[in-house]
Amino acid sequence: MIVVLFGPPAAGKGTQAARIKLTYGIAHLSTGDMLRAAIAQGSETGLKAKAIMDEGKLVPDDVVLGIIAERIVAPDCSKGFVLDGFPRTVNQAKALDLLLSGKERSIGHVVVMEVNEAELVKRVENRASEARKKGDPVRPDDDPETFKKRLAVYKAETTPILPYYESQGKIRRVDGMKPIDEVTAQIDAILSGGKARKSWLPKWLTG
Ligand code: AMP
Repeated sequence: MIVVLFGPPAAGKGTQAARIKLTYGIAHLSTGDMLRAAIAQGSETGLKAKAIMDEGKLVPDDVVLGIIAERIVAPDCSKGFVLDGFPRTVNQAKALDLLLSGKERSIGHVVVMEVNEAELVKRVENRASEARKKGDPVRPDDDPETFKKRLAVYKAETTPILPYYESQGKIRRVDGMKPIDEVTAQIDAILSGGKARKSWLPKWLTG
């Protein structure tokens, strides 16, 4: 199962992808997390990416494509994976299809999480204040001005992917404004082909 979780920044993709990983036993691939890990390690990729990310812009396609190409051949991706924050440009989407077709694999569903802009701004403010309360560092790109830039980049560079996947008949939309568990239930209904379970917890936990 290969799933693309698509949506604006702070739509809740990370939360839902973590649940999909647990429920379906597939890998969770977040290019944002991978880039932040590269920054923390001080690797060459991290050094290249940091300034761009802090400004709310997109890291060059070849950098993220290199990371993804390496990651999807890891053993934990053999059953499938959920992509969170990738692809973010039409070029990335096309390159991903090429990469997968070379391995006789393909994307199953593109799940679009729809959340309005006012709610996204509220969520990112909450995320920053929760981090402050816990004494954790606040993501530099969660600063209000940078967040506005990330939203603008999403609209200009990422949403043009939608017609591409639309033409492949892969788009499934969910109401991302609903409470977290309800969003999970909507996604589960799509991924399980209508046989949605009552709980997002994996079968081995709920019996
Ligand atoms: P995220 O954690 O998904 O919000 O990503 C944080 C930042 O990492 C983005 O604002 C970009 O600067 C960079 N990034 C993550 N994924 C990609 C991608 N697929 N293409 C380009 N840049 C990315």
